[in-house]
Amino acid sequence: MKYTSPRGTKDILPSETGLWQHIEATSRNVFDLYGFHEIRTPIFESTDLFVRHIGGDTEIVQKEMYTLEDKKGRSLTLRPEGTAPVTRAYLQNAMADKPNHQKLFYMGPMFRYERPQAGRYRQFHQIGVEHFGDASPIADAEIIAMGIRMFSQLGLKNLNVRINSVGCPISRPVIEERIKQFLHTNLHKLPEHIQKKFESNPMRILDAKDEVVHTYLAGLPDIKDALSQDSKDHFSTVLEYLEQLGIEYTVDNTLVRGLEYYTETVFEIVSADLGGAQNTLCGGGRYNYLVKDLGGPKTPAVGFAFGVERAVLLLKDQLKLKQPELDLYIVPMGHPQQLKCFALADELRQAGISCQLSTETKLKNALKNALKNANKLSATYTLIIGEEEAEKGVVILKHMESGDQEEHPISNIPQVLKEKTKATNAAH
Ligand code: AMP
Repeated sequence: MKYTSPRGTKDILPSETGLWQHIEATSRNVFDLYGFHEIRTPIFESTDLFVRHIGGDTEIVQKEMYTLEDKKGRSLTLRPEGTAPVTRAYLQNAMADKPNHQKLFYMGPMFRYERPQAGRYRQFHQIGVEHFGDASPIADAEIIAMGIRMFSQLGLKNLNVRINSVGCPISRPVIEERIKQFLHTNLHKLPEHIQKKFESNPMRILDAKDEVVHTYLAGLPDIKDALSQDSKDHFSTVLEYLEQLGIEYTVDNTLVRGLEYYTETVFEIVSADLGGAQNTLCGGGRYNYLVKDLGGPKTPAVGFAFGVERAVLLLKDQLKLKQPELDLYIVPMGHPQQLKCFALADELRQAGISCQLSTETKLKNALKNALKNANKLSATYTLIIGEEEAEKGVVILKHMESGDQEEHPISNIPQVLKEKTKATNAAH
């Protein structure tokens, strides 16, 4: 029987993990500059956390959750997103009282039972940030700017910020009523799932992917007209601060984003290079009531998350990462030499020199095969020691690129290599 990874998941192979590490390291560096600290939460949470706080009539909760029952009958769900778990952790660990615990970032796998396609998986990875306790529009502008700066440091091009405001819960019923009034004469012509939303959550209709829905939405007055003056001011200040940094944006009046908890600013960073329906690299917004809804004090917050697979997709062709290099390949000829080299390799690694030891025991062809291996592994040097060298207490050190060979006493090798690799690294 042949096993394959479950549908919608994929193995990330060493040929790609370098790029993943590069994305992770760049985001860590940038987050650090803005004072964000890492948090790691469990991969599963109580199902209720997502049902109640992402919203019972969202696509994620209705169709996409991986929910299971544990042996005690508790309902658990593999996390489909990071904001609800991080907010749960923020409250549970009384982080509001701890200095330096208000700006958090996370990275890790998320799970959604979606129809897999390019850029869309059932297990995917997000890197996200959450900033708690700051209601200022400057905080919104700052994290959008942080995202843009991070992506440009990664080398991503052709990005566009789409931004909108969904206001506060007080203006929501007014917005919903306006959407209903606008659509009601054509309601019967809309797909069934949209008709359902008409009653339960009309604002989410703006988020629909169906083209037909958008034809009927054409001409809908801007939902921001229904916002309170405070919300309007908040939004225009966010834009003003983005402009101050020269960050370009497009105000998209139909952007509402899928999740229930958003208030005020919502935004996406899209890439023209991703193409198709999966062109959103990053999504985020403000959620001023989630902490309170989870039982905490009223705490404003703002955050975003981006999909690592999509960043990898964009960078794969652009970025040629340096292949990891091997300092030394060690080729002992015969058992006594092998034993000696096993200890030498151990000593070299402790001294910070990367090396691999040939385990070839047959003397015939050993050297030829070993040199082939050294080339395959892109080793800078090869060390060869046969019976004759062992008797003299020396080894042969071959520089693979030039073919130059030197003889050194075996006891000097750690020092010799330390100097040589230091010189090579300095030259790079
Ligand atoms: P969301 O949590 O839906 O706002 O998604 C934020 C980002 O995560 C998106 O812009 C994508 O880059 C990424 N993402 C969301 N769902 C998936 C998925 N099923 N597969 C791959 N990436 C995803």
